[in-house]
Amino acid sequence: MAVKPTFSLDEIIFELTTNWGERQLGPLRKWPGNTVTFSIPGIVPTVVYVYDEPQEPAGFRPPGTMALAAREAFSLWDDLIAVSLQELVGTPSQITIAYSTSTKGNGTYAGSYPTDDDADLFFFWQLGLPVEPPYPNGWFLDRSYIWLSGDNWDSLQPTALVDTTGNVIYGSGFRTIVHEIGHALGLDHGQDGMAKLPTASPPL
Ligand SMILES: [Zn+2]
Repeated sequence: MAVKPTFSLDEIIFELTTNWGERQLGPLRKWPGNTVTFSIPGIVPTVVYVYDEPQEPAGFRPPGTMALAAREAFSLWDDLIAVSLQELVGTPSQITIAYSTSTKGNGTYAGSYPTDDDADLFFFWQLGLPVEPPYPNGWFLDRSYIWLSGDNWDSLQPTALVDTTGNVIYGSGFRTIVHEIGHALGLDHGQDGMAKLPTASPPL
């Protein structure tokens, strides 16, 4: 029986914070400061950075029970990490989570964007173009948008996120929200054999 490889904490941290998708090792993404704000808007959010992303706000839907699940998911992350997560209401926040019926590929994802100074280089890197120098210190994030595909959530599956008494169900819908918040905070999936941002296990 094969022995699982072991990794140091530093190796795991490096892996989970730099291995972005098929482009393999890439720059670190990090939030400035000790507090990161989030919002679950009830009206169409203002999207500052769009680049090549579709205009998801066009299909915006009110959050409904998603707001309860998202608030719980942010709370779990807040318990877990050193950075403090603070909800803002009616004010643009650093992380925004929302529903849309017009997401790219009808998918659910987190899109993150750096501060203005690095925006152009970040865009080049996202397109797979060479970025010189390779930014070993990574980018400070400015905004992250989590878009949940409206077709797959609580309008069609009323019990996917909360039960009849309004308690959050720790099911696949909830775990998806936890997963996407992890991306918004700067974590990726990791490579085979490494610790991975969980997709199908209990959040705690
Ligand atoms: Zn993911």
